[in-house]
Amino acid sequence: MISNDPAVVAAPIAERIAAAQHILILTHINPDGDAVGASLAVWHALGALGKQRTAILTPPIPVYAAWLPGADQIVFYQSGMALPPADLAILVDTAHLTRIGPIYDEHSTILATAPVIVIDHHVTNHGGGALNLIDPDAASTCDLLYRLFCAMGIQIDRTIATCLLLGLTTDTQSFQTNATRPTSLRTAAALLEAGADHAQIVRAVYYGLPASSAALMGRALANLRCEHGVVWTTVDKRMFAETGAEEEAADEVIRVLQRIGEARVMALFKERSDGTTKMSLRARAPLNVAAVAQRWGGGGHAQAAGANLPMTPTEAIAVIIPLLKELAAHDAC
Ligand code: 5GP
Ligand code: MN
Repeated sequence: MISNDPAVVAAPIAERIAAAQHILILTHINPDGDAVGASLAVWHALGALGKQRTAILTPPIPVYAAWLPGADQIVFYQSGMALPPADLAILVDTAHLTRIGPIYDEHSTILATAPVIVIDHHVTNHGGGALNLIDPDAASTCDLLYRLFCAMGIQIDRTIATCLLLGLTTDTQSFQTNATRPTSLRTAAALLEAGADHAQIVRAVYYGLPASSAALMGRALANLRCEHGVVWTTVDKRMFAETGAEEEAADEVIRVLQRIGEARVMALFKERSDGTTKMSLRARAPLNVAAVAQRWGGGGHAQAAGANLPMTPTEAIAVIIPLLKELAAHDAC
Protein backbone atom coordinates (compact mmCIF):
# COMPACT_ATOMS: atom_id res chain seq x y z
CA MET A 1 0.00 0.00 0.00
CA ILE A 2 1.31 3.46 -0.94
CA SER A 3 -0.31 6.70 0.16
CA ASN A 4 0.70 10.30 0.66
CA ASP A 5 -2.03 10.78 3.26
CA PRO A 6 -1.25 10.08 6.93
CA ALA A 7 -4.98 9.68 7.66
CA VAL A 8 -5.19 6.78 5.18
CA VAL A 9 -2.22 4.80 6.52
CA ALA A 10 -2.61 5.59 10.24
CA ALA A 11 -4.85 2.60 11.02
CA PRO A 12 -2.88 -0.03 9.06
CA ILE A 13 0.39 1.28 10.49
CA ALA A 14 -1.06 1.16 14.04
CA GLU A 15 -2.17 -2.45 13.43
CA ARG A 16 1.30 -3.53 12.26
CA ILE A 17 2.90 -1.83 15.26
CA ALA A 18 0.42 -3.41 17.69
CA ALA A 19 1.16 -6.89 16.30
CA ALA A 20 4.97 -6.51 16.41
CA GLN A 21 7.19 -7.75 19.24
CA HIS A 22 10.35 -5.84 18.40
CA ILE A 23 10.60 -3.00 15.91
CA LEU A 24 13.76 -1.86 14.11
CA ILE A 25 14.04 1.81 13.22
CA LEU A 26 16.28 2.44 10.23
CA THR A 27 17.32 5.36 8.07
CA HIS A 28 19.80 6.27 5.37
CA ILE A 29 23.58 6.16 5.45
CA ASN A 30 25.19 9.51 6.36
CA PRO A 31 22.12 10.40 8.43
CA ASP A 32 21.24 14.10 8.44
CA GLY A 33 19.08 16.08 10.88
CA ASP A 34 15.83 14.86 9.34
CA ALA A 35 17.01 11.23 9.46
CA VAL A 36 18.17 11.41 13.09
CA GLY A 37 15.19 13.51 14.24
CA ALA A 38 12.72 11.19 12.54
CA SER A 39 14.40 8.03 13.87
CA LEU A 40 14.39 9.32 17.44
CA ALA A 41 10.84 10.67 17.20
CA VAL A 42 9.68 7.19 16.11
CA TRP A 43 11.79 5.64 18.90
CA HIS A 44 10.09 7.83 21.53
CA ALA A 45 6.62 7.32 20.04
CA LEU A 46 7.01 3.52 20.04
CA GLY A 47 8.26 3.72 23.63
CA ALA A 48 5.12 5.62 24.59
CA LEU A 49 3.14 2.79 22.96
CA GLY A 50 5.01 0.29 25.17
CA LYS A 51 6.85 -1.36 22.27
CA GLN A 52 10.32 -2.88 22.27
CA ARG A 53 12.34 -1.07 19.64
CA THR A 54 15.87 -0.40 18.46
CA ALA A 55 17.00 2.60 16.42
CA ILE A 56 20.06 1.40 14.52
CA LEU A 57 22.00 3.97 12.50
CA THR A 58 25.21 3.92 10.52
CA PRO A 59 27.64 6.36 12.16
CA PRO A 60 28.52 9.13 12.26
CA ILE A 61 25.53 11.32 13.06
CA PRO A 62 25.97 15.10 12.79
CA VAL A 63 27.21 16.87 15.93
CA TYR A 64 24.19 19.20 15.74
CA ALA A 65 21.85 16.21 16.20
CA ALA A 66 23.89 14.21 18.73
CA TRP A 67 22.37 15.97 21.75
CA LEU A 68 18.76 15.08 20.88
CA PRO A 69 16.88 13.26 23.65
CA GLY A 70 17.33 9.52 23.10
CA ALA A 71 20.51 9.88 21.00
CA ASP A 72 22.37 7.95 23.70
CA GLN A 73 20.05 5.00 23.02
CA ILE A 74 20.93 4.76 19.32
CA VAL A 75 22.74 1.57 18.37
CA PHE A 76 25.58 2.51 16.01
CA TYR A 77 26.03 -0.14 13.40
CA GLN A 78 29.45 -1.66 12.81
CA SER A 79 30.10 -4.02 9.93
CA GLY A 80 29.42 -7.61 10.97
CA MET A 81 27.03 -6.67 13.80
CA ALA A 82 23.96 -8.87 14.33
CA LEU A 83 20.54 -7.21 14.20
CA PRO A 84 18.07 -7.64 17.08
CA PRO A 85 15.42 -10.28 16.27
CA ALA A 86 12.87 -7.81 14.91
CA ASP A 87 9.56 -8.65 13.26
CA LEU A 88 8.87 -5.16 11.86
CA ALA A 89 11.08 -2.38 10.49
CA ILE A 90 10.24 1.29 10.15
CA LEU A 91 12.38 3.02 7.55
CA VAL A 92 12.40 6.82 7.65
CA ASP A 93 13.67 9.48 5.23
CA THR A 94 15.14 6.87 2.89
CA ALA A 95 14.33 6.76 -0.81
CA HIS A 96 15.42 3.17 -1.38
CA LEU A 97 16.33 0.14 0.75
CA THR A 98 19.88 0.13 -0.62
CA ARG A 99 20.36 3.65 0.85
CA ILE A 100 20.34 2.04 4.31
CA GLY A 101 23.96 1.19 3.46
CA PRO A 102 25.92 -1.61 5.16
CA ILE A 103 22.98 -2.62 7.40
CA TYR A 104 21.06 -3.48 4.24
CA ASP A 105 24.05 -4.93 2.40
CA GLU A 106 24.78 -7.35 5.25
CA HIS A 107 21.20 -8.16 6.32
CA SER A 108 19.11 -7.90 3.16
CA THR A 109 17.54 -11.32 3.75
CA ILE A 110 16.31 -10.39 7.25
CA LEU A 111 14.99 -7.10 5.92
CA ALA A 112 13.25 -8.94 3.11
CA THR A 113 11.35 -11.16 5.58
CA ALA A 114 10.33 -8.59 8.22
CA PRO A 115 7.65 -6.25 6.87
CA VAL A 116 8.90 -2.70 6.35
CA ILE A 117 6.92 0.50 6.91
CA VAL A 118 8.36 3.31 4.78
CA ILE A 119 7.86 6.93 5.81
CA ASP A 120 9.53 9.37 3.45
CA HIS A 121 9.32 12.53 1.37
CA HIS A 122 11.78 11.82 -1.47
CA VAL A 123 10.30 12.18 -4.94
CA THR A 124 12.49 9.27 -6.09
CA ASN A 125 10.89 6.89 -3.55
CA HIS A 126 8.61 4.41 -5.28
CA GLY A 127 7.63 2.52 -2.14
CA GLY A 128 9.42 -0.76 -1.45
CA GLY A 129 7.70 -1.42 1.90
CA ALA A 130 4.60 -3.34 2.95
CA LEU A 131 3.08 0.03 3.91
CA ASN A 132 4.39 3.26 2.43
CA LEU A 133 3.62 6.80 3.54
CA ILE A 134 5.41 8.87 0.90
CA ASP A 135 4.63 12.54 0.38
CA PRO A 136 7.08 14.34 -1.92
CA ASP A 137 5.29 17.58 -1.06
CA ALA A 138 6.28 17.26 2.60
CA ALA A 139 9.20 19.55 3.40
CA SER A 140 10.74 16.94 5.70
CA THR A 141 10.10 13.42 6.91
CA CYS A 142 9.69 14.96 10.37
CA ASP A 143 6.68 17.08 9.46
CA LEU A 144 5.13 14.11 7.67
CA LEU A 145 5.68 12.10 10.88
CA TYR A 146 4.03 14.85 12.91
CA ARG A 147 0.91 14.48 10.79
CA LEU A 148 1.07 10.68 11.09
CA PHE A 149 1.41 10.80 14.88
CA CYS A 150 -1.59 13.15 15.07
CA ALA A 151 -3.62 10.79 12.85
CA MET A 152 -2.60 7.85 15.08
CA GLY A 153 -3.54 9.71 18.26
CA ILE A 154 0.05 9.64 19.57
CA GLN A 155 0.67 12.47 22.00
CA ILE A 156 3.44 14.85 20.89
CA ASP A 157 5.34 15.56 24.10
CA ARG A 158 8.25 18.02 24.29
CA THR A 159 10.78 15.26 23.62
CA ILE A 160 9.12 14.11 20.39
CA ALA A 161 8.48 17.75 19.45
CA THR A 162 12.18 18.61 19.82
CA CYS A 163 13.27 15.68 17.62
CA LEU A 164 10.71 16.59 14.95
CA LEU A 165 11.49 20.30 14.98
CA LEU A 166 15.21 19.64 14.52
CA GLY A 167 14.46 17.56 11.41
CA LEU A 168 12.01 20.09 10.03
CA THR A 169 14.38 23.00 10.71
CA THR A 170 17.42 21.38 9.12
CA ASP A 171 15.70 19.83 6.08
CA THR A 172 14.07 23.15 5.16
CA GLN A 173 17.27 25.07 6.00
CA SER A 174 15.12 27.04 8.40
CA PHE A 175 12.13 27.32 6.09
CA GLN A 176 14.12 28.47 3.07
CA THR A 177 13.66 25.51 0.73
CA ASN A 178 11.16 25.46 -2.05
CA ALA A 179 9.39 22.58 -0.33
CA THR A 180 8.47 24.85 2.62
CA ARG A 181 4.68 24.94 2.72
CA PRO A 182 2.14 26.71 4.91
CA THR A 183 1.73 23.27 6.53
CA SER A 184 5.44 23.18 7.42
CA LEU A 185 5.11 26.44 9.32
CA ARG A 186 1.88 25.28 10.99
CA THR A 187 3.65 22.09 12.03
CA ALA A 188 6.55 24.13 13.42
CA ALA A 189 4.08 26.27 15.39
CA ALA A 190 2.41 23.16 16.81
CA LEU A 191 5.80 21.69 17.75
CA LEU A 192 6.75 24.91 19.56
CA GLU A 193 3.41 24.81 21.37
CA ALA A 194 4.18 21.22 22.35
CA GLY A 195 7.36 22.45 24.04
CA ALA A 196 10.07 21.81 21.43
CA ASP A 197 13.44 23.17 22.55
CA HIS A 198 13.84 25.79 19.83
CA ALA A 199 16.70 27.63 21.56
CA GLN A 200 18.82 24.48 21.79
CA ILE A 201 18.07 23.57 18.16
CA VAL A 202 19.21 27.00 16.96
CA ARG A 203 22.33 26.82 19.12
CA ALA A 204 23.24 23.34 17.90
CA VAL A 205 22.49 23.90 14.21
CA TYR A 206 23.86 27.41 13.73
CA TYR A 207 26.32 28.07 16.53
CA GLY A 208 27.94 24.69 17.05
CA LEU A 209 30.30 24.52 14.07
CA PRO A 210 33.47 22.59 14.99
CA ALA A 211 36.65 24.61 14.32
CA SER A 212 37.95 21.68 12.25
CA SER A 213 34.93 22.04 9.93
CA ALA A 214 35.68 25.74 9.47
CA ALA A 215 39.29 24.86 8.60
CA LEU A 216 38.16 22.32 6.00
CA MET A 217 35.68 24.82 4.57
CA GLY A 218 38.52 27.31 4.15
CA ARG A 219 40.55 24.87 2.07
CA ALA A 220 37.66 23.69 -0.04
CA LEU A 221 36.34 27.21 -0.71
CA ALA A 222 39.80 28.52 -1.63
CA ASN A 223 39.69 26.19 -4.65
CA LEU A 224 36.13 26.80 -5.85
CA ARG A 225 35.40 27.31 -9.54
CA CYS A 226 32.44 29.29 -10.84
CA GLU A 227 31.64 29.22 -14.57
CA HIS A 228 28.47 29.62 -16.61
CA GLY A 229 26.15 29.50 -13.64
CA VAL A 230 27.77 26.45 -12.05
CA VAL A 231 29.92 26.54 -8.92
CA TRP A 232 31.88 23.54 -7.73
CA THR A 233 34.73 22.41 -5.56
CA THR A 234 36.34 19.29 -4.11
CA VAL A 235 37.07 17.99 -0.65
CA ASP A 236 39.72 15.29 -0.61
CA LYS A 237 41.10 12.83 1.90
CA ARG A 238 44.14 15.03 2.55
CA MET A 239 41.95 17.97 3.61
CA PHE A 240 40.14 15.74 6.09
CA ALA A 241 43.43 14.35 7.41
CA GLU A 242 45.08 17.76 7.75
CA THR A 243 42.16 19.51 9.43
CA GLY A 244 40.80 16.58 11.46
CA ALA A 245 37.32 17.50 10.18
CA GLU A 246 34.43 15.02 10.32
CA GLU A 247 32.38 14.00 7.28
CA GLU A 248 29.66 16.51 8.13
CA ALA A 249 32.06 19.37 7.35
CA ALA A 250 31.38 18.63 3.67
CA ASP A 251 27.72 19.56 4.19
CA GLU A 252 28.83 22.96 5.42
CA VAL A 253 30.86 23.46 2.24
CA ILE A 254 27.88 22.80 -0.02
CA ARG A 255 25.79 25.15 2.11
CA VAL A 256 28.23 27.98 1.36
CA LEU A 257 28.25 27.11 -2.35
CA GLN A 258 24.46 27.45 -2.30
CA ARG A 259 24.83 31.05 -1.18
CA ILE A 260 26.88 32.10 -4.22
CA GLY A 261 24.77 34.50 -6.23
CA GLU A 262 26.35 33.86 -9.65
CA ALA A 263 25.49 30.17 -9.48
CA ARG A 264 22.28 28.35 -10.27
CA VAL A 265 23.75 24.87 -9.89
CA MET A 266 26.19 23.84 -7.16
CA ALA A 267 28.29 20.69 -6.91
CA LEU A 268 30.61 19.25 -4.31
CA PHE A 269 32.90 16.32 -5.12
CA LYS A 270 34.04 14.52 -2.02
CA GLU A 271 36.80 11.95 -2.22
CA ARG A 272 35.83 8.79 -0.31
CA SER A 273 38.28 6.63 1.58
CA ASP A 274 38.41 4.16 -1.34
CA GLY A 275 39.32 6.96 -3.78
CA THR A 276 35.87 7.12 -5.43
CA THR A 277 33.64 10.19 -5.29
CA LYS A 278 30.49 11.21 -3.45
CA MET A 279 28.79 13.93 -5.46
CA SER A 280 26.36 16.40 -3.88
CA LEU A 281 24.25 18.53 -6.19
CA ARG A 282 22.08 21.53 -5.45
CA ALA A 283 20.06 23.77 -7.76
CA ARG A 284 17.96 26.87 -7.63
CA ALA A 285 14.32 26.22 -8.46
CA PRO A 286 13.05 25.41 -11.00
CA LEU A 287 16.27 23.71 -12.08
CA ASN A 288 16.26 19.97 -11.37
CA VAL A 289 19.44 18.06 -10.55
CA ALA A 290 17.75 14.82 -9.47
CA ALA A 291 17.90 13.44 -13.02
CA VAL A 292 21.68 13.94 -13.22
CA ALA A 293 22.11 12.11 -9.90
CA GLN A 294 19.77 9.32 -11.00
CA ARG A 295 21.70 8.83 -14.22
CA TRP A 296 24.62 7.82 -11.99
CA GLY A 297 22.60 5.52 -9.74
CA GLY A 298 21.84 8.18 -7.14
CA GLY A 299 18.74 10.17 -6.35
CA GLY A 300 17.23 12.77 -4.05
CA HIS A 301 15.09 15.83 -4.57
CA ALA A 302 14.79 18.23 -7.54
CA GLN A 303 16.98 20.83 -5.87
CA ALA A 304 19.15 18.55 -3.69
CA ALA A 305 20.46 15.25 -4.97
CA GLY A 306 23.51 13.06 -4.79
CA ALA A 307 25.26 9.96 -6.12
CA ASN A 308 28.39 7.88 -5.69
CA LEU A 309 30.63 7.84 -8.74
CA PRO A 310 33.14 5.02 -9.36
CA MET A 311 35.94 7.44 -10.27
CA THR A 312 38.23 10.05 -8.74
CA PRO A 313 36.93 13.59 -8.07
CA THR A 314 38.99 14.92 -11.01
CA GLU A 315 37.42 12.36 -13.35
CA ALA A 316 33.98 13.06 -11.91
CA ILE A 317 34.36 16.79 -12.52
CA ALA A 318 35.31 16.14 -16.15
CA VAL A 319 32.13 14.09 -16.65
CA ILE A 320 29.59 15.98 -14.55
CA ILE A 321 30.42 19.68 -14.90
CA PRO A 322 29.61 19.84 -18.66
CA LEU A 323 26.19 18.29 -17.89
CA LEU A 324 25.55 20.85 -15.16
CA LYS A 325 26.62 23.75 -17.40
CA GLU A 326 24.20 22.49 -20.02
CA LEU A 327 21.45 22.32 -17.40
CA ALA A 328 22.16 25.86 -16.16
CA ALA A 329 22.36 27.26 -19.72
CA HIS A 330 19.33 25.41 -21.06
CA ASP A 331 17.01 26.79 -18.46
CA ALA A 332 18.32 30.34 -18.95
CA CYS A 333 17.12 30.39 -22.62
P1 5GP B 1 23.51 15.06 -0.01
O1 5GP B 1 24.11 15.71 -1.19
O2 5GP B 1 23.24 16.03 1.09
O3 5GP B 1 24.23 13.83 0.43
O4 5GP B 1 22.10 14.54 -0.47
C1 5GP B 1 21.11 15.35 -1.02
C2 5GP B 1 19.87 14.53 -1.25
O5 5GP B 1 20.14 13.51 -2.21
C3 5GP B 1 19.37 13.81 -0.01
O6 5GP B 1 17.97 13.85 -0.04
C4 5GP B 1 19.87 12.41 -0.15
O7 5GP B 1 19.01 11.50 0.45
C5 5GP B 1 19.92 12.22 -1.66
N1 5GP B 1 21.08 11.40 -2.03
C6 5GP B 1 22.39 11.68 -1.83
N2 5GP B 1 23.17 10.69 -2.29
C7 5GP B 1 22.35 9.75 -2.79
C8 5GP B 1 22.55 8.46 -3.40
O8 5GP B 1 23.67 7.98 -3.59
N3 5GP B 1 21.42 7.79 -3.77
C9 5GP B 1 20.17 8.30 -3.60
N4 5GP B 1 19.12 7.57 -3.98
N5 5GP B 1 19.95 9.49 -3.02
C10 5GP B 1 21.00 10.22 -2.62
MN1 MN C 1 14.63 14.47 4.62
